[in-house]
Amino acid sequence: MTATTQSMSEQTAALFDEAVIPNYGRYPVCLERGEGSRVWDDQGRAYLDLFPGWGCNLLGHCPPKVVKAVQDQVAKLIHVPNTWYTEAQGRWAKMLSERSFGGKAFFCNSGAEANEAAIKLIRLHTPAERYKIITFQGGFHGRTIGAVTATAQPKYHEGLGPLMAGFTYAPFGDLDAVRELVDDETAGILIEPIQGEGGVRIPPEGFLQGLREIADENGLVLAFDEVQAGCGRTGEWFAYQHASLGDGGVTPDVITLAKSLCGGVAGGALLTTAEIAPSLRPGMHASTFGGNPIAAAAGIATIETIEEENLLGRASQISDAFAARLQPLVDKLPYVEELRACGLMIGLELSVDGSQVVQQCMERGLLINCTQGTVIRLLPAMTLTDAEVQEGCDILVNVIENLEL
Ligand SMILES: *Cc1c(COP(=O)(O)O)cnc(C)c1O
Repeated sequence: MTATTQSMSEQTAALFDEAVIPNYGRYPVCLERGEGSRVWDDQGRAYLDLFPGWGCNLLGHCPPKVVKAVQDQVAKLIHVPNTWYTEAQGRWAKMLSERSFGGKAFFCNSGAEANEAAIKLIRLHTPAERYKIITFQGGFHGRTIGAVTATAQPKYHEGLGPLMAGFTYAPFGDLDAVRELVDDETAGILIEPIQGEGGVRIPPEGFLQGLREIADENGLVLAFDEVQAGCGRTGEWFAYQHASLGDGGVTPDVITLAKSLCGGVAGGALLTTAEIAPSLRPGMHASTFGGNPIAAAAGIATIETIEEENLLGRASQISDAFAARLQPLVDKLPYVEELRACGLMIGLELSVDGSQVVQQCMERGLLINCTQGTVIRLLPAMTLTDAEVQEGCDILVNVIENLEL
């Protein structure tokens, strides 16, 4: 496409003006269909999407096996409540258990809900006088009141107070600060093993292990929010399994999942050990749509696709290919500060406003994201081809090299 200002159907724009609450900043582009890492708008323009589905579409748009599984399921049974069994929910739970630490699953529909379940579980599993949860500055855990309170970023709290009681915040990477916050009322620690929205921040070596030790010494539940980093995004099934984040990996007591869990279909989950699981006892928590047949079918198909196509290994290859193109910018340009990547979580920190990069890339047919004002974030699909990596980098590198400062 040519470098023009975006436009979209005026009728659709009018519908939004009239009837949709404007709580999102939206680009004036109306997306209509997608295939792999390519997406088309209502004016027929094609884009290469290096941020498909805000990290939900780890297999790209409309992965065939997920599409087929959903189509088959939707004709058989759309929804049944959790007062009955479905074979698929059980099989899905087992598949997740086998790929993580062998525990049990609770299913919900989103990342915030998975974290709400984690907050309840942490409180339920520890003695009644323990209720405090330590979270980390720059973290992101979702928008419900519990999850947003866990999110230690003041900009998300403005005007919402009073927030939920019982959260204390530590600087990401600071074990001494965590030790100081622990008291007789502390019940758990909730952390993103790699901060996503906070700017693709990878913890210093030994940090996650240190948290494991603090949790063990003080009887705390250690929960990892892997809503963005989990389900294969980093090239391991779960970020905690990365040797680079701890000596051979650090095993948490709880992980929360959503985003790419179901290949783009809405779904969330909490996984915990068999020992802790009974604390979420009957009557204490529930989700009407949680673990529904469509999400389960999509979740199973997502795992099968990743394994059949050997995509975990592919994630690392794609990551290396991006690094080969982006690292030279750090070395060459004074306003490009740092490249941070773990598999297909890629952040390029600038010292200048990144929204202009997003805008210019979009005008040239490339979709990316900027978080925290200055961090260019890519959450590309595992199915991205080598040619697509080069195509995307050609545009991105050119835009960054030619920024008007
Ligand atoms: C996106 C995200 C959430 C919130 O997920 P929703 O599905 O939007 O509720 C929570 N934690 C992390 C790490 C996320 O990236």
